[in-house]
Amino acid sequence: MKQLKNQTLLASVLTDGKGQQVFNPFDDSLLATVPMSCQAKIEHDVVEMEAGQKAWQKKPVSERCQLMKKWHQLILQNEDDLAMLITLEGGKPLKEALGEVRYGASFIEWFAEEGRRAYGNTIPSASNDKTILTVKQAIGVAAAITPWNFPLAMITRKAAPALAAGCSFICKPSESTPLTAFAVTELAYQAGIPKDVLRMVVGENAHDVGEVFTYHPSVRKFSFTGSTLVGRKLQMQCASTIKRTSMELGGNAPFIVFDDADIDSAVKGAIASKFRNAGQTCVCANRFYVQEAVYDEFIQKLVAEVDKLKVGNGLDESTDIGPLISKEAKQRVSDLIEEAKGRGARQINQERSLEGNFIAPTILIDVEHDRPLVQGEIFGPVLPIIRFSEEDKMIAMANDTIYGLAAYFYSQDMNRIWRVAHNLEYGMVGVNEGIISTEVAPFGGMKQSGNGREGAKEGLEEYLETKYVCIGGLDR
Ligand code: ADP
Repeated sequence: MKQLKNQTLLASVLTDGKGQQVFNPFDDSLLATVPMSCQAKIEHDVVEMEAGQKAWQKKPVSERCQLMKKWHQLILQNEDDLAMLITLEGGKPLKEALGEVRYGASFIEWFAEEGRRAYGNTIPSASNDKTILTVKQAIGVAAAITPWNFPLAMITRKAAPALAAGCSFICKPSESTPLTAFAVTELAYQAGIPKDVLRMVVGENAHDVGEVFTYHPSVRKFSFTGSTLVGRKLQMQCASTIKRTSMELGGNAPFIVFDDADIDSAVKGAIASKFRNAGQTCVCANRFYVQEAVYDEFIQKLVAEVDKLKVGNGLDESTDIGPLISKEAKQRVSDLIEEAKGRGARQINQERSLEGNFIAPTILIDVEHDRPLVQGEIFGPVLPIIRFSEEDKMIAMANDTIYGLAAYFYSQDMNRIWRVAHNLEYGMVGVNEGIISTEVAPFGGMKQSGNGREGAKEGLEEYLETKYVCIGGLDR
């Protein structure tokens, strides 16, 4: 990869033609090829990770956390290269990619600190001859499957708590974005984290890797970020060995603008939430509900701002919206737009016809609530708007979905803020804020958006067992 300043990042993984091909979604050109493992090799990897985990958990936590801090520093030192890889293989605009590198790195620093605080409890006993206490212990080998939309952060958000807890961590990155995954792992090795404690694998196909990760008895924890469809299947596979799971699945985030909102701020939040990564994030605002009294003002201001957004190559510094991940993704989003238009939806911003994997930002009004555009996850820069009058009815519509990941609303009325935040059936609620992801808060969903939380102290718990120890026969 001649684009990189630090040639060591991918030196050990690039092959000369055999293996998984990685393409640039900007122009579908071939970027690189990385090796693929067969199922037997991945099973062997898991066995090695089991041995690695035993040694890793014996290291003093301070030593583990020091290595993680070194890893964190190396990521920041190589942030331009990592951002470049994210843009090349994922299409994300460079400035956003740099944001992802820093966001991804923040989990490593945060868990390197939090790992030292995996406290147990001592519990008052009912009888004098017993002491009751709990200790926290690493679960064991943790395996993960991650998506392409955050090729770095979705890995570090899982690997950091796993390593801090004393687990080893094996991961299959998305086949679309393995380069970032291998590069960030190489930096972990350079920091001194052993190869049998952290490892990336690309299989001959996703299904084969998924089978090993979910059926192998030595894998004690499985963490997945991806679609609800695939997550449901993997969760069922995990049932066979009763694994602990964390599932970060699909979302269908409502974005609500009440008539007492600060409209300028709501427009800014809407754009930040909707168009991040060209609308390809699970917490992207998916459907907009705007109250009657501010409907015209919101739409007018929104259109003016959205039409300024620049669509283009992610490597161009001025680009706001890059390409979608693939031809298929573009086709899927185009079909959703056409379907809604066929049922009366109207585009109210500038129409731009674009070649390649691009979809221009599209604002649609008069959208019927039961259309797939509103009911499913769009994963593209399309913004359907629905007008509402009564709060109760709108909340019922917002909650009428199998998903429960993120929700956003804008209001300046304190009573309403508490009431609506309470009544939305979502794992994360942004109030007067369109970007809510941070390493210090628990990220995760309700309903079929998944289980478990990533980030914050809850994120560490996902990789720990609570062991209760009862010491009896004491003479007190
Ligand atoms: P997305 O729309 O984000 O690609 P997917 O759920 O299809 O969502 O993919 C997320 C991750 O799950 C990717 O790494 C992909 O390779 C993997 N994946 C897809 N299908 C399977 C499967 N049947 N078994 C295991 N992993 C899978």
